[in-house]
This record gives sequence, C-alpha cells and structure tokens, in this order.
Amino acid sequence: MAIRPLVILPDSVLRQVSKPVEAVTPEIKALAADMLETMYDAPGIGLAAIQIGVPLRLLTIDLAKPEEEKAPMTFINPEITWSSKELNIHEEGCLSIPEYYEEVERPARVKVRYLDLDGKVQDIEADGLLATCLQHEIDHLNGVLFIDHLSRLKRERVTKRFAKAARRDSAA
Ligand code: ZN
Repeated sequence: MAIRPLVILPDSVLRQVSKPVEAVTPEIKALAADMLETMYDAPGIGLAAIQIGVPLRLLTIDLAKPEEEKAPMTFINPEITWSSKELNIHEEGCLSIPEYYEEVERPARVKVRYLDLDGKVQDIEADGLLATCLQHEIDHLNGVLFIDHLSRLKRERVTKRFAKAARRDSAA
C-alpha cells in the first residue's frame, strides 16, 4: 500500500470522465487499498480514483468518527439508480480543494448500485452524510466538482484563488 499524491484544483485531470472498471483484478484491489491509505492520511471521508490521477470509476468512503473503528467502503462502477425528491443541505469539502467548505443542496436519499471488491453487484439506499458523500464522489467520476453546485460567483472566486496558488507554487 502507498499514499499517492492528490490532484488539486485547477488541474484539468479533475474534469476527466472516468472509465468503468472492467474486472475486479488484484491491481484494482491494490488501487482501492492505496486510495484508502491516501484518504486516511489526508484525512478525508471520501476519495475518487481520479483524485489520485487514475481515471477509473472507483470510490472509497469511510464515515467512521476518529474515535470509532475504521469502516472502509469501496464502490466500483457506482451508479445512482434513484434519488429522492426531498433535498438536503450539507456542508461539503473536497481533498482536491483543500480547506474550502460550502453548503450544497442535493437529494436527501439515493439508491446506488455498484460492484464490491469481490465483483458482486450490490444495492444500497443511503441517507444523511452517506447520501451526500456518494453523490459528491460519483460526481467526480463524471468530472464534476462540488463547487459546480455553487453560485457562479462563489465558483469563480475559489477557482481563481486556487489558480493563483498553483502559479505561486510553480514559480517557487
Ligand atoms: Zn471531492
């Protein structure tokens, strides 16, 4: 297992649409293990493979609190099969947009179909933080970031700030 470098806004890699995982091979399992290690190290509660530069439809999530035992979840080729009409507002952040948090409105509940690490089809119904997290991470697979759900003004402001920081880093 290894901690991989995170892709940060405004890197255009984050706008790529990820490809389906064709088979759950040992390489895919190793990638999921690296993603979990990278996510715990950050620390974060969710990570899409594209955030470490791998354009595959693969997510890891762990919503356990620091004092709780780890509860890693891996979602391969996840698809939202149903969303509630009822909406919910939750504050979101993103490991690719460090230290920036904003409230985002999304469906309160979703059903997601995915493959587990044994290659078996699973269906879950999620609400609360898991529903928000799954929608945020599945957005990543389609090149969508949570700032795309904000007003244009807020999105432009944060994008400019990160573009400036990236220029400063490359000049240093
Ligand atoms: Zn994110």
